[in-house]
Amino acid sequence: MEYYSNQISQLIEAFSSLPGIGTKSAQRLAFHVINMPKEQVDLLAKTIVDARNHVQYCAQCCTLTDRELCPICKNPDRDQSTIMVVETPRDLAAYEKTGKYEGVYHVLHGAISPMLGVGPGDIRLKELMERLQGDVSEVIIATNSSLEGETTAMYLSKLIKPAGIKVSRIASGVPVGGDLEYIDEVTLLRALEGRTEL
Ligand code: ZN
Repeated sequence: MEYYSNQISQLIEAFSSLPGIGTKSAQRLAFHVINMPKEQVDLLAKTIVDARNHVQYCAQCCTLTDRELCPICKNPDRDQSTIMVVETPRDLAAYEKTGKYEGVYHVLHGAISPMLGVGPGDIRLKELMERLQGDVSEVIIATNSSLEGETTAMYLSKLIKPAGIKVSRIASGVPVGGDLEYIDEVTLLRALEGRTEL
């Protein structure tokens, strides 16, 4: 990309390091930014930096939030004794969109994958086990139906069941290998309602 100035090349490179952005899109974004009014660019840059600086893990469920506790954990109307375990904050958002789940969540930030070298210590499992010391009546495992998601579900069930807590798995109406966030709300709801005890 020698035909662009160094600054433009750097901007294109920065954009193309983002997920799902190829060289063409990166070029389009870079030129768009350069043609934007200066104040708008300042605001965009500030928003990115602020979000990165202030967003943290919820002290209870480990989802991303800008407070110590996320709005769901803080909500007194939510059933704190039912915990749905998901892989990512996006999965949490997908279930929240159904508007029908009244419990709380736990976000693992990943799934166990021996092939990729991701072990139980690499996801937010310790935090979940600590929560189970409290008053918990059911853990609903809503990890993806991928190999990693299933491996994680099996592992969790073996770990939690001896504690005498009910463990259930969402129904497999969810397509195999399908990311939860791409599945429509009706299917998600059906998967939740049709959950089976492990
Ligand atoms: Zn939370």
